[in-house]
Amino acid sequence: MNGNAKIRPVKGMQSLYGEDADRFAHVVETFEEVRRLYNFKRVEVPVLEQTAVFARTMGETTDVVSKEMWSFESRSEGSVTMRPEFTAGISRAFLSEGWQQHAPMKVATHGPAFRYERPQKGRYRQFHQLDAEIIGSADPLADVELLAFGAHLLAALGIEGVTLKLNTLGDQESRENWRGALVDYFSAHKAELSEDSQDRLEKNPLRILDSKDPRDQAFVADAPKMVLTDEAEAFFVKVREGLDAAGIAYELDPHLVRGLDYYRHTAFEFVTDQLGAQGTVLAGGRYDGLIEALGGSPTPAVGWAAGIERLAMLVDDNVTDKIEAAILPMGEAALAKAIEAAAYLRGAGFAAEIYATGKIGKRMGRADEAGARAAIVIGDDEIANGVVQYKDLATGEQTAMKLEEVVAPLTEILGREAMEDIEAMMGDQQ
Ligand code: ATP
Ligand code: MG
Repeated sequence: MNGNAKIRPVKGMQSLYGEDADRFAHVVETFEEVRRLYNFKRVEVPVLEQTAVFARTMGETTDVVSKEMWSFESRSEGSVTMRPEFTAGISRAFLSEGWQQHAPMKVATHGPAFRYERPQKGRYRQFHQLDAEIIGSADPLADVELLAFGAHLLAALGIEGVTLKLNTLGDQESRENWRGALVDYFSAHKAELSEDSQDRLEKNPLRILDSKDPRDQAFVADAPKMVLTDEAEAFFVKVREGLDAAGIAYELDPHLVRGLDYYRHTAFEFVTDQLGAQGTVLAGGRYDGLIEALGGSPTPAVGWAAGIERLAMLVDDNVTDKIEAAILPMGEAALAKAIEAAAYLRGAGFAAEIYATGKIGKRMGRADEAGARAAIVIGDDEIANGVVQYKDLATGEQTAMKLEEVVAPLTEILGREAMEDIEAMMGDQQ
């Protein structure tokens, strides 16, 4: 090994700081808030699973399983794979951790996922997902709950220009019939299809509809549409009625198929016009066949996943954490008092930062940049009198008071701002 070789990150894996990291955190925090509103419980599942967990559930012919998995031989477990998504691992845990007793369960999680893809904007080899699942419910209300959670999340993030595209893949019977019709149709044009789609024709013709290749897209437009059984139709009607009742707008897209094998009935994508080919920000559907594929008894389930990086690119850039109080000790003797003041304010729930060195003007500048609303200035006179100087940075007004007394005006400033935020939000909705 060359000891002087420059160390570098693994290709397609990002490290974040500053605004990018703040946007990322904002997406996760908002997800956690909305998750609680919808009563989805947190779950944690491992990053590594037996390769079979993904191969059996996602389908050997999918892009993810056939070319995108990070798999390796472990010392004692045979082939293991770094999760490319959450659904398979959560379903595995449902079976092997005895979670069946909690069914129907509404669960959510987030964390890193890994796919060996060509890195580009919005596409990485380690990316991060938000994930929500309802396992053990065949009720269309579960689909509605899940879609409402997704729509609410995107609204709470302030993401605009998003369309919910909705389709049904039908039940087993309607799906089989559709598959046959697609094979007949595409076989007649086989020579003109892309090589990938010629291959798909035998293995998974539905996926031709998902093709981004222009050679295929010419034929996709006129491809036969799914003919639903009465039962599948009734299910889809209930989902749509539920969405209407929840006030969630959608567009029907008869060619929307999900990339993975295990979907039945509802399939959906929230798509934005802002990220080019990487426009899908939240996607999912019903996967009634998956848990059976893992060896469990038939268990209906529905879920979605969203890419955190893609959401983070779409959120407002004004999500950086702000401090509330800046503490400025003037001189050596004031430092201990400043530390004491910081401990007091943080204990009282205020975000505070000590600016101990540099010219006072510079320090004020840094405090301002960090978002401080008030400055607490402590010098020799203040120490002698047992007070601090409290300065409202908006008005410039400065008053000497006891440390404990700064809580009231600081609370007032922040309360006023919170009210203004709420009023602005209400204004937007009118
Ligand atoms: P795409 O068509 O963009 O490859 P996909 O169908 O493979 O997406 P899913 O398996 O549905 O994606 O994953 C859910 C979400 O995870 C996607 O909508 C996207 O936001 C995100 N995602 C998927 N792959 C990546 C990646 N390599 N880098 C960043 N985000 C990703
Ligand atoms: Mg993909």
